[in-house]
Amino acid sequence: MDPAALAAGFVREQVRPRLEEWEASARYPREAVRASGLTGLFAPAGTGGLDLSYPDGMAVFEELGRGDAALAFSISMHNAVAAAVTRAGTGDPLERWGARLVRGDALGGFSLTEPHAGSDATAITTRATEMSDGWRVTGRKAWVSLAGEADLFLVVCKTSDEPGHRDMAMLAVEREGGGVSFPAIYRKARAAFLPIGEMALEDAPAHLLAPPGQGLRAALGAIDVARCDIAAIANGLHAEALEHALRYGRDRKVFGRRVIDHQGIQWALADIETDLVAGRLLTRAAAERLGTPEGPVAVAHAKRFCPDAALRAAIVCSEVLGAYGWLEDHPLARFIDLAKMLQVVDGTTEIQRVVIARDLLKRAETL
Ligand SMILES: Cc1cc2nc3c(=O)[nH]c(=O)nc-3n(C[C@H](O)[C@H](O)[C@H](O)COP(=O)(O)OP(=O)(O)OC[C@H]3O[C@@H](n4cnc5c(N)ncnc54)[C@H](O)[C@@H]3O)c2cc1C
Repeated sequence: MDPAALAAGFVREQVRPRLEEWEASARYPREAVRASGLTGLFAPAGTGGLDLSYPDGMAVFEELGRGDAALAFSISMHNAVAAAVTRAGTGDPLERWGARLVRGDALGGFSLTEPHAGSDATAITTRATEMSDGWRVTGRKAWVSLAGEADLFLVVCKTSDEPGHRDMAMLAVEREGGGVSFPAIYRKARAAFLPIGEMALEDAPAHLLAPPGQGLRAALGAIDVARCDIAAIANGLHAEALEHALRYGRDRKVFGRRVIDHQGIQWALADIETDLVAGRLLTRAAAERLGTPEGPVAVAHAKRFCPDAALRAAIVCSEVLGAYGWLEDHPLARFIDLAKMLQVVDGTTEIQRVVIARDLLKRAETL
């Protein structure tokens, strides 16, 4: 089946009907995600993955964003881990982990951020050391999504006292491999089913994925794909908000006319539609450039634009519903929160501007 249609079916049959139950139980819907068929999107076909092109992958994430952006984000992260492990992991146990991740029998998490180091990844201090029996990791990670739930975490580490990123490595740490604990799970307003928190590592055994010197580059390569996923998820949220407002505004009358017959509302929604068209074009252009030298800047444009546009869309579309936009009976209050989340995850809007500006400064030197 077309993977985007598979994602749309997953949203229709699992996410929409069960989201409230997942929120109330505060349990990650592991079984539903496993059964979704969406756990090996970018993994090579030889490992059981779908080996999607990035544009086809973005069509999947737009559908998932129509369902729930927090769940979609977790599926994006899992897929980044599955792709990295299946592509880089040779020999046991990484090959076994790759197959389990692709099938969805195991979940993947990604740990770069630390309590004192978010946007500035070069400030991390978690340390990996090579011992006679393999690698060990010690440190504390923050904002770890699927904390306590994922089975294998990619952990970006320093390997020396040298400042900067030249010694960084990326390692895979098993949740049950010893030395791993989750001392704090954050309280948050939304997405109770998605545990996010701190991860403490104490001499945790680890498998090397990207050797010292290649860790940050490997992490940023995975993050670029994830940023593009987030832009696509934002487009899905955006499209869903707009359609919700159109349906509501079509069916409710104010001052003797349908809400959507008022020109002020039409113009506001016209701008939201233009932003959606632009966001989809930016996301497609970014997906087509992933893995090329133009990829990071193209992705930064999409990640900068789409979550901001989705947030504006959620706010404007909520206004079309008047007071009702604020109720949990409608998804718009939730969308406003989730669009805020999309602005931050996988690198904030400001950091995307930093990437774009760096490119502009390079260009300035050539003029
Ligand atoms: C829901 C959620 C899930 C997450 N999941 C994960 C995960 O699974 N794994 C993981 O490793 N991380 C995860 N993160 C962490 C996320 O990647 C970081 O929060 C993000 O990179 C920003 O870091 P920070 O919050 O520490 O902000 P800081 O780096 O402290 O920045 C604070 C503010 O300053 C701005 N800023 C920073 N530098 C500049 C600059 N040079 N110029 C202008 N403004 C600047 C930032 O944009 C931000 O607004 C998650 C975050 C969220 C919200």
